[in-house]
Order: sequence, then structure tokens, then C-alpha cells
Amino acid sequence: MSTGRPAPEREATIRGLRARLAEARAAGRTVGLVPTMGFLHAGHCSLIERARAENDVVVVSIFVNPLQFNPGEDFDDYPRDLDRDLEMCARAGADIVFVPGGQEMYPEPVATTVRLGALADVLCGASRAGHFDGVATVVAKLFSIVGECSAYFGEKDFQQLTIVSRMAADLSLPVRVVGCPTVREPDGLALSSRNAYLGEAERSQAPVLRRALEAGAALVQSGETDAVAVEAEMASVIATAPLAEIDYTAAVPVSTLTADGPLRGDVRLLVAVRFGKARLIDNTGCRAG
Ligand code: AMP
Repeated sequence: MSTGRPAPEREATIRGLRARLAEARAAGRTVGLVPTMGFLHAGHCSLIERARAENDVVVVSIFVNPLQFNPGEDFDDYPRDLDRDLEMCARAGADIVFVPGGQEMYPEPVATTVRLGALADVLCGASRAGHFDGVATVVAKLFSIVGECSAYFGEKDFQQLTIVSRMAADLSLPVRVVGCPTVREPDGLALSSRNAYLGEAERSQAPVLRRALEAGAALVQSGETDAVAVEAEMASVIATAPLAEIDYTAAVPVSTLTADGPLRGDVRLLVAVRFGKARLIDNTGCRAG
């Protein structure tokens, strides 16, 4: 399918990207940024399309960031398919695809990283020590390289979205962070590059994450304010899938992502579940109290 737009320019250097964007800004054009680790799917494309609708120049970055993987995690095996990614970027409306190599992003062993506070220690941060510091460091670099822009992140990674928004505000970075809704398969499974790891039986059970969140949200909407009861309800739904191994179920205030007494106001329900090699996450919002 042709979009009628020229194919996106591929850019591998920080210097080259800065030069292109300086030229665009000098012409008064606004910039949208979509940071990704590649192996793109319709979820990523929804971010690119949103950036396309709201900006003059759309940059998609593709970089599997070693800093956010712990030893024993899937950095080496993380799925990669650059040719397919470039086609998807073209179809979704990207102007520039920034594909830096590891040497370009980290020419020296890193001596300076972003260190986050309590938001990074809970939920996924509890089982992936240092993960969000690695995310925040690469996102800070991308924000520094791209400069003033709107940056688009998925709600699918809700803790990441929260942390990045907070980092941009705390460090006065000239970036408007925009959260975008989760794109799902017809059976409710959130699209994720890591879904590629799922075997057939695991894939058929994976929509249990979504069902658990729906059950949790229904309980909160029926008046339940005890986070532990909501978490137990979600865990009991996940336990119906024999191949699922729960990492966490959580019902937390949206502002702190940490339980502190009865649920009130805007609440986020989040789950993380392992199916074999795949660690899947999902979340939803609801109002309590
Ligand atoms: P990743 O390539 O996994 O680092 O994701 C890049 C961006 O795409 C992040 O902001 C994710 O939150 C977002 N994203 C991933 N999956 C989805 C999805 N199913 N729906 C919407 N956004 C997503």
C-alpha cells in the first residue's frame, strides 16, 4: 500500500539526526518522537500514526538498549527485523528512522546514568533491578539528541510511561510526553514484541491477563477498596491458566504506583505473568471510592 509519502530517511548517527532536526526546526517545523526497540507491531504503529497526526516531522528510534536488560534477560535473543521495521515505519508515516548502533549510543562504558526514585523500585522494578534506570538513561539521551519535541509512549508499559513523564518534568526536559492507549489482539492480548516467544498453548492462555484486569476493575467498580482483595481476585483469574506463573498483581494509586491504604480516586491495576520464556505485562485504569 502506498502512503503517497517519500520513504523515511534512515539515520545512524547522532550528529546526522541533530543536523536534520535543526534544519526542520529552523523552518518552523514541529517534531514528534517515537522511541522503540524495534520488531514493530500495530501498537508501535499507533504511536507513529499519532505522532504523524500531531507533528510536522516524525522520528522513530529503533535501538535495543543493553542498559535496560539484566544479566540472564533476553538482550541477545530480543527479536530483531530491521527491514520489516523500516517498511512499517514507512506505512505508519515516519519521516526519519534513527537506528544507532551500540557504539554510537555508548562509545564508552557509561559513567553517568539517570537514577530514579521509588517509582522505579516497585512492580516491574522489584523483579528487574536497575531496569528503569537503564530505560530512563536511554530515553534521556534520546530526548537530548532530538531536543524539543512531543514523545509518544504506550500505556501498555504504564510504569515506564509514568517514570518517563516524571523524569521529563523533574529534569525540565523540553519534551511533552504523550501516553497512548494499548493496542490489543481481538482476544484481548496486548500486542508485544515478546509475544513472539509464546508457544501455541501459551498463546492460547495469554489473554488471561486481560480477563484478570477486567475482573479486578469490575470488583473496584462494585465498591471494593481493599487493594489486597482486588489483587487476590486478579491472581485467582490468572491461576485458571495452567501455564501462567504470576510475577505480580497490583492495585495501586495512579500517582505513586504504591499501595497506601484503601483505594481512592484514580487507580491502576497491573499484572505481570510469565509464560515460559515470555514475561508479559498489562494494565488498566479505574476509579475507586
Ligand atoms: P518497545 O519497543 O517494547 O520498547 O515499545 C516501544 C513503545 O511502544 C513503548 O512506548 C511501548 O509502551 C509502546 N507499545 C508497546 N506495545 C504496545 C501496544 N500493544 N499498544 C500501544 N503501545 C505499545
